[in-house]
Amino acid sequence: MTLQHPQTDKINLKGLTLFELEKLVTQWDEPEYRAKQLMSWMYHRQAETFEAMTNLPRNLRQKLTDIAYVSGTHVLTRTPSNADTAVKYLFELTDGSRVESVLMYDQDRITVCVSSQVGCAMACDFCATAKMGFFRNLTAAEILDQLITIERELDTEKSVTHVVFMGMGEPLANYDQTVKAIRLMTDANGLGIPEAKITVSTSGLARRMRQFTSERLRCNLALSLNGTTDETRTRLMPINAKYPIDEVLDATREWALATQRPATLEYVLIRGVNDSVTDARRLRKLMGRLPCKLNLIPFNEIEGANFRRPELNQIERFRRIVADGHHVAPIRFSKGRDIAAACGQLRTIYEKQGVMMPQVS
Ligand code: SF4
Repeated sequence: MTLQHPQTDKINLKGLTLFELEKLVTQWDEPEYRAKQLMSWMYHRQAETFEAMTNLPRNLRQKLTDIAYVSGTHVLTRTPSNADTAVKYLFELTDGSRVESVLMYDQDRITVCVSSQVGCAMACDFCATAKMGFFRNLTAAEILDQLITIERELDTEKSVTHVVFMGMGEPLANYDQTVKAIRLMTDANGLGIPEAKITVSTSGLARRMRQFTSERLRCNLALSLNGTTDETRTRLMPINAKYPIDEVLDATREWALATQRPATLEYVLIRGVNDSVTDARRLRKLMGRLPCKLNLIPFNEIEGANFRRPELNQIERFRRIVADGHHVAPIRFSKGRDIAAACGQLRTIYEKQGVMMPQVS
């Protein structure tokens, strides 16, 4: 993955680990401690120019300006929700690609939902991002920039407390950059967010989930399950044909046992598709196979969607059956429903208003 600026060939210092940055500064005949100074400016003080880094010698600032840069991102739109406290951000990246993030407030908890790819190749049938197809992976810097830009807009005494990888894209399909972004989020020289406050949500790439387990990161893992039989799950999530329910639950169980943390199963409830009493009983049984909790998410009806949200009494009946013996989180209606805060929806609406997606090679 290139770190060069698409137009200037300068190297982006954001997104480099401390080790990579130390190696680079020593190649430039600078002392190793400059790497920590640079990280502090980029992540703690959110500087985007070397000129702003006033504790670096003037000649070094000039040298860095000539050969390197610190990426930022451009906010195209901010859409606050009327229904709750969510704010949806649409970002434009250096090559003109667009991704979205959602900022959510819940008392002292400030969560940002980040994107990991431009579009997504997983083709889940209920998902707006899937309808766009896949354009490219984000770099670690582009993932971090979503957080840094949003944090800059918060009141000075506030900072982002939680991060969820539930925006556009399948984070484990962009494995290296996702893991790198997490390491920089959690590094004290980076954003300093505790591992336990970060959640990676996956459609179930079992092989990558096992690799993720071997990273020994103590963050949270959420499996988007959404079906209790292979037939239904494959209809909703084609990746299930490659990694069926048995295999993906085994991989999730291995993660839960290795990290000593319960996994989260996410289940989008869709009327007439996966919301029957039999589904609820099967789901309860599947949950017995691993340490886990469940997030039930009634389907967020989007324009043009071929699915419907179940009636409230149906949702509640489903929850009651599964909750018998298992931990089920309160039913989660997507935050920011009125601002299309389900992955990919804002971008779709924006493009329908006449702004077309750039071609990205
Ligand atoms: S639900 Fe997630 S993995 Fe599935 S298509 Fe949408 S963004 Fe991709």
